[in-house]
Amino acid sequence: MSATDELLNPDFPVPDELQSNIAITTIDKIYNWSRRSSMWPMMFGLACCAIEMICTAASRYDLSRFGMEVMRPSPRQSDLMIVSGTVTKKMVPQIVRLYNQMPEPKYVLSMGACATGGGPFKEGYNVVSGVDKYVPVDVYVPGCPPTPQALLFGLIAVQKKIDQQSILTVPWYQRGPSEAIPVPILGPDIIDPRQSDVIRVQAAKLATAATAVAELSGAAEA
Ligand code: SF4
Repeated sequence: MSATDELLNPDFPVPDELQSNIAITTIDKIYNWSRRSSMWPMMFGLACCAIEMICTAASRYDLSRFGMEVMRPSPRQSDLMIVSGTVTKKMVPQIVRLYNQMPEPKYVLSMGACATGGGPFKEGYNVVSGVDKYVPVDVYVPGCPPTPQALLFGLIAVQKKIDQQSILTVPWYQRGPSEAIPVPILGPDIIDPRQSDVIRVQAAKLATAATAVAELSGAAEA
C-alpha cells in the first residue's frame, strides 16, 4: 500500500489509468493525515520517564517515522505535550501555563505512573496525583517507566484519535475563543482556581466549626 492509499475514498474509485495523477478524498481525511503525520512534541521532561522519552527520540526508535523527530523548545510551536515524569505541586503552574501557550489543535500524552496518578509518590506531600486534574489528557501510557516501545504505542494512539476527528466538530473551530485553563496557585498547598467555590464553602465550614469549638471551650472555662 502506498503512503497515499489510505487517503483514497472508496466511494469514488479512480480509473486505473488516472491513479498516479488523481486522488479523491475528503477534507477530514487529508486534514487529519497531514496533522497526525507531522506532530511536534514539546521538549521538556520532569523525571526518570524523560530518559525513556529521550531514548525514544534517538536513532534506535526513530521518531521521524511519525514526523516528530524535532522536539520544539517553545510551546508556541508545539502541538503535543508529553508529560514525562513526576508532576510536583511546584511544577503544575508551569505545566498549565505551557499548555495554555500551545496553539490549538493540541494534545497531551501522560507518560508513566507518576504523571498519570502520582506513581510511587502518590499522596506525597509535594506530588499531584495525576496531571489530568489540571490539563486534559488524551492518551495515558502506563509503566514505571514506560519503555520506548510503550511510548511509541501511545503516540500511535494519539494518531488514531486524530484520525477520528472531524473538522466540523473539533472544539478549536467552533465559534468564540477557547478558554484558557486558570493557572493553579502554589501556596502551602496547590490551589486550583476552578475549585475556588468548593474551597470557599469548605473554608467557611471549617471557620464555623472552629468558632463553635472556641465558644464551647470559652463557656467551659467560665
Ligand atoms: S513513573 Fe517511575 S520512571 Fe516515571 S517518573 Fe515516576 S518513578 Fe520515574
